[in-house]
Amino acid sequence: MVSFNFYDRPGFDKAGHLRTDKAWLERQIASDSSQIVPIWRSRNFVADIESPRLTTVPMNKSIVDDSPVIVFLGLFNDTAHFAVDLSHHEKPPFCDAGRFADLRVIGTLLPRDESSLMAFARAHMTWHKRHKFCGCCGAATKSKNGGHVRVCTNANCKTSCFPRIDPAVIMLIHDGGDRIVLGRKKTMLPGQHSILAGFVEPGESLENAVAREVFEEVGIEITDVNYHSSQPWPFPANIMLGFTARATTFELKVDYNELEGGARWFSKEYLRNSPENDSFRLPRKDSISRRLMTEWIES
Ligand SMILES: [Zn+2]
Repeated sequence: MVSFNFYDRPGFDKAGHLRTDKAWLERQIASDSSQIVPIWRSRNFVADIESPRLTTVPMNKSIVDDSPVIVFLGLFNDTAHFAVDLSHHEKPPFCDAGRFADLRVIGTLLPRDESSLMAFARAHMTWHKRHKFCGCCGAATKSKNGGHVRVCTNANCKTSCFPRIDPAVIMLIHDGGDRIVLGRKKTMLPGQHSILAGFVEPGESLENAVAREVFEEVGIEITDVNYHSSQPWPFPANIMLGFTARATTFELKVDYNELEGGARWFSKEYLRNSPENDSFRLPRKDSISRRLMTEWIES
C-alpha cells in the first residue's frame, strides 16, 4: 500500500547516482543556478513564519567554503539543492530574507513535498553534527559522497558511517470493540493523548517490539499485530513503524515512569467528540499516531 504520512513524500529526485560524481558536484557548487537549503542549529529557513514555504538561497561559494558540512539533497524542480550547515554563525544569517524555525512547529503548515525536503536536510545536519568522530577508533571522520557517508580519517581504520535511523514501533491497541488505549507523556501538550510507542531493541522483531512495549507500558497482552504504514520522524532520527493490534487482556497496569500522565481506554464516541482543549486533545496532525487514530475513529 502507498503511505501518505507527513515527511515521507519528498517530491524530488534524490539522484543518488550523482552523490559519488565529484566533478559533477563541484560544477553544481560552482553554478549560480544551484540552491542552498540553509540549516542553523537544527532549524530550517523560511521567508514567512506565519505561512511558511521552502525558502532557499542562491548558491554562493563563499557560504559553502565557510560551512563545516554541505549535503547534496537532490534535484528539486531539476535544480541541484544542497543543505548547508550555518550553525557556526553566532546569530542566524540571512535575517533580512526570513527566519530560522523549528520544523516540529511549522511542519504542518508547509506543502508536504517542501516539508519532506526540509526534514531530509535537517536530519542530515543532525547526523553530521553527532558523528564527527569514529565510533571504532575515535579519530575524526570526514564527509564524503555529497554528505551521505562519513569516513574515518585514520588510515588503519577507514570505517564508513552512514546516516543513523532509529526504528520505533507505534501501535493502536483496540479491544475488539469500540475502545483503544491512549497514554500521556509529560512532554506532550496539556491534555494531549497518543497511542503507545517505543524503540525496537537489537535482536527483536517488530511484532515482538509491539507486544513488549504494550506490556511494559500498560501491562496488557495483545494479538493480531498488523502493519499499517511508516513515517520518517527526523526529530532527530526516527522511523515510526505503525501497527494495529487487539488486546486479549484489558486491565491496565500503567508504568508511570514511561507514561507520567497515565493511560486508559477511550471510546470511539469520546474521541469523535474530542474537546481539543487542555482537558483532552488528539495527537498533532502531522503524526502517524493521529492518522492511525483518525482512520480507526472513522471506521
Ligand atoms: Zn576509525
